[in-house]
Amino acid sequence: MKMLSLLFSLLAIALAEASQTPLSVTTDPIDSVQLCCTALSEALPSLVHLPGSAEYEHQQHTYFILQHTEIQPSCRVSPATSSDVSLIMTTLTKNSCPFAITVEEEKGLVRLGPGNNWGSVYAAMEPYNLTTVGGRMPEVGVGGFFLGGGISLLSFQHGFGSDNIFNYELVLSNGTILNANASSHPDLFWALKLGSSNFGIVTRFDVRTYPLKPHVWGGIRAYPLTTSGTPTLISNWVTFARSEAAKREELQALILGREEIVTIWHASLSDVPGPPLSTSLPVVDRTRKTTLADLVDDLQSSDFADKRRNRWFTLTVKLDAPFIWDMFEHAKGMFDELELEFEEMRWNLLFQPVTQGFVSASEETGGNPFRSVLMDSEDGLAIALFLISWTDSTHDSAMNYASRTLCAWSESLARQRDVYGRSVSKGDLERLREVKGVYDKEGILGRLWRGGFKIPGDEGELDEGERKVHYESPARSEL
Ligand SMILES: Cc1cc2nc3c(=O)[nH]c(=O)nc-3n(C[C@H](O)[C@H](O)[C@H](O)COP(=O)(O)OP(=O)(O)OC[C@H]3O[C@@H](n4cnc5c(N)ncnc54)[C@H](O)[C@@H]3O)c2cc1C
Repeated sequence: MKMLSLLFSLLAIALAEASQTPLSVTTDPIDSVQLCCTALSEALPSLVHLPGSAEYEHQQHTYFILQHTEIQPSCRVSPATSSDVSLIMTTLTKNSCPFAITVEEEKGLVRLGPGNNWGSVYAAMEPYNLTTVGGRMPEVGVGGFFLGGGISLLSFQHGFGSDNIFNYELVLSNGTILNANASSHPDLFWALKLGSSNFGIVTRFDVRTYPLKPHVWGGIRAYPLTTSGTPTLISNWVTFARSEAAKREELQALILGREEIVTIWHASLSDVPGPPLSTSLPVVDRTRKTTLADLVDDLQSSDFADKRRNRWFTLTVKLDAPFIWDMFEHAKGMFDELELEFEEMRWNLLFQPVTQGFVSASEETGGNPFRSVLMDSEDGLAIALFLISWTDSTHDSAMNYASRTLCAWSESLARQRDVYGRSVSKGDLERLREVKGVYDKEGILGRLWRGGFKIPGDEGELDEGERKVHYESPARSEL
């Protein structure tokens, strides 16, 4: 909750930016900001501070960075509880308030507050015909996406989401606010590209923008799952991911699950149709020339994102067709049996390629903690993502246990086959620890901040139970 309060103190800054910068994200930002301040004043009268009030003036002078004291917010909001935060968020979204997004067209950047989700960011950028290297589903948040690297539909062309950040504004555990970029705190800048909750609370991401292409091509093609045909399809997928995907700027995911189908999710920035990876006729073919926003919406409406209890893990492996098939067969054996008892359970195993195409962007932006691993993996890597969902809370421990068991089995197989991949090399992991030692000297964030993934060796005095929570948290599983 502390974190939420802190993040929401950004609202004051954001409302101000929307009214001050020459370009904003709505056609009539000042009216919209006023509308939001009025709506918030009605909903939370004691928490909204208008210019001229003592609290407003006091808060105006609490910034560490001088430029921030020069910004005059239209109003300031100080939430005290999580329900305040929730009410504020609802009011802002209901009134389409342009909080914490500022597009600076001429500089080719967008300044993003971490409380936004990608749906609102893309919608705000679209009128400028701009986009950025963001999430592939509208509901995903900006903060966690960037702090985990971030795989985007634009990644084959522009690398990870975090490769495109050229400045982080953040608050350290000792309360210091600073900017990390190529010339100011460059070591921290590098580490934040995979920073999660290890270095501080990021209060603003300054990110490159790219022209929004009028058309892209993508959608799903699904084929019957057979023991004779599917291993060949997987092998074709691996070959394509290694050699062709980057040239076509196409990100494809391979999805296997409890249904008797195998799905290839195509998403190409070029509007030219991609080749089918199977000679079989697809049972579903939703590939089409369309817009980027439509592709993102398409994925949101899929099975993955519905409101259910869920647990997931990721594992980085070398692009290797036999491993993919064997991991799937093992998962299917395990979960087909479990399904007899837990009928409402659903699961999916998704592989997404991370190839040399991802490396290019980081050359320009100072590198990142996963760059050296990628450069060493000549044939590219894949991130295996296992997702299980259910509805009944009394099934939680059974589902968690099953997910952990599959993760451990898969990791062990990957090691045996020598296809186990790391996201970060040992040298870079050591460098991450060193940077943490500088910016969170007491290791406070490792001890107190639950959530996100922690740099190994920095889990303080956590007991075994808490370690498990970290292990199971939805983040990159392996550093
Ligand atoms: C449906 C779905 C689709 C997804 N699609 C993609 C995708 O296309 N590409 C991809 O790469 N990932 C994707 N992910 C993974 C997603 O990026 C991570 O789950 C990410 O952590 C979500 O971030 P959030 O801000 O929404 O979540 P949160 O739970 O709010 O944040 C996750 C963690 O990040 C840390 N954090 C968040 N904000 C800040 C901040 N401002 N400062 C410091 N730490 C912070 C916190 O420790 C927090 O525990 C997807 C996840 C889901 C559930």
